[in-house]
Amino acid sequence: MLFVGGGTALPPGPPVDLEISSEKLDRVIEYEPADQVVIVECGLRLAALQRELAKHGQRLALDPPQPDKATLGGSSPRTRSVRSGPASVPCAT
Ligand SMILES: Cc1cc2nc3c(=O)[nH]c(=O)nc-3n(C[C@H](O)[C@H](O)[C@H](O)COP(=O)(O)OP(=O)(O)OC[C@H]3O[C@@H](n4cnc5c(N)ncnc54)[C@H](O)[C@@H]3O)c2cc1C
Repeated sequence: MLFVGGGTALPPGPPVDLEISSEKLDRVIEYEPADQVVIVECGLRLAALQRELAKHGQRLALDPPQPDKATLGGSSPRTRSVRSGPASVPCAT
């Protein structure tokens, strides 16, 4: 089984039996700019989130390639630490 976000950094390997796409899980659930707290679904694209945050002069300190495709689920520190080891996550939030 493989979770698939934007598909920009999928691990190499043999075909899997089941792919679960987060494509339709793309909502901002809650955003409190004054508290700097945002709760989103895992399929939200980085660029879409940055556009929302920019309306309030804020941004998420992540800068992955292909932000119009990359999702929060695929970019999260936990996901990256699984893929690359915790040392690859200098800006975990
Ligand atoms: C040069 C370079 C610089 C980078 N810089 C940054 C950076 O500054 N900040 C940063 O955060 N990332 C960075 N990245 C890595 C970044 O995490 C990925 O490029 C991209 O964000 C992955 O998003 P995606 O939606 O395309 O994931 P996918 O390619 O779809 O998936 C990537 C991995 O995450 C898993 N996954 C996807 N969605 C979920 C989910 N909902 N739940 C659990 N697992 C899931 C997949 O199974 C897969 O193992 C960089 C990569 C490169 C090559």
